[in-house]
Amino acid sequence: MTILQTFSLAGRTALVTGGNRGLGHAFARGLAEAGASVMIASRDEALNDTVVAELTADGLAVQALTADITSDADVTRMVAETVDRLGRIDILVNNAGICFHGDSWDVPDEEWDAVFTLNVRALWKCSRAVGEQMRGRGGSIVNIGSISGMIVNRPQNQPAYNASKAAVHQLTKSLAAEWASEGIRVNAVAPGYIKTEMSPVDDPKFRRQWIEDSPQQRYAMPAEVAGSVVFLASDAASFVTGSVLVVDGGYTVY
Ligand code: NDP
Repeated sequence: MTILQTFSLAGRTALVTGGNRGLGHAFARGLAEAGASVMIASRDEALNDTVVAELTADGLAVQALTADITSDADVTRMVAETVDRLGRIDILVNNAGICFHGDSWDVPDEEWDAVFTLNVRALWKCSRAVGEQMRGRGGSIVNIGSISGMIVNRPQNQPAYNASKAAVHQLTKSLAAEWASEGIRVNAVAPGYIKTEMSPVDDPKFRRQWIEDSPQQRYAMPAEVAGSVVFLASDAASFVTGSVLVVDGGYTVY
């Protein structure tokens, strides 16, 4: 097998939560371009259909199902339906997440709960439900963390999000340690500033600290993170587990 062949996902199946826009969309495309059959799972059915139509037109094997992963019943149905339609799940990308900006004194309980319910609890429930059917057979889980789990972003405050992404990084290591014996690798990618609906990278009020403070002096597009997800999902990363791969244009070196 050549080195490039170890990056191939031909014959693999992948589930991406929140794959209908932003980073998840780029991950779905990247995994499918690497050869995987991909299922995306998010709430907006019309957007799911649009993405499937776009990627299918490009010759990629991508399907969608509608799910709100903060609902335990939806997580159970999502995994069962994915196994039913794809045969099994080799790769799980825990991508869906939310963020609110706000000073700690003003954070409403509902926002704190919403962030932890999606970014941490749903990721935990999806990992366990998919991990259960990977047990013994093996698989690769890629969690989407953030540089916000490592540094405190400026100038905006986002205490719940920062804490939730630190939890994602540590949960990644905990599950990697426990599940290595099952043949399951668990890693995370920690992106920096990427242009998506979540991240207003073009807003002038963020320019100084988000762009000018960064070694590369720019933000990235979602496709620039997809290669890292494909790598961690693939056999090229066969000895990589419990890692947090930082993809931030150098932002966290300062
Ligand atoms: P977007 O807001 O653009 O996309 C979020 C995605 O999550 C959508 O596909 C959305 O689909 C889905 N989603 C939201 N809530 C749910 C839910 N309850 N159930 C199922 N799916 C849901 O965000 P990004 O693409 O920017 O972010 C993706 C991930 O990357 C997040 O975990 C984020 O924290 C992380 N990240 C992003 C960075 C950035 O700069 N953009 C930097 C670092 C990390 P729908 O609404 O249809 O459900």
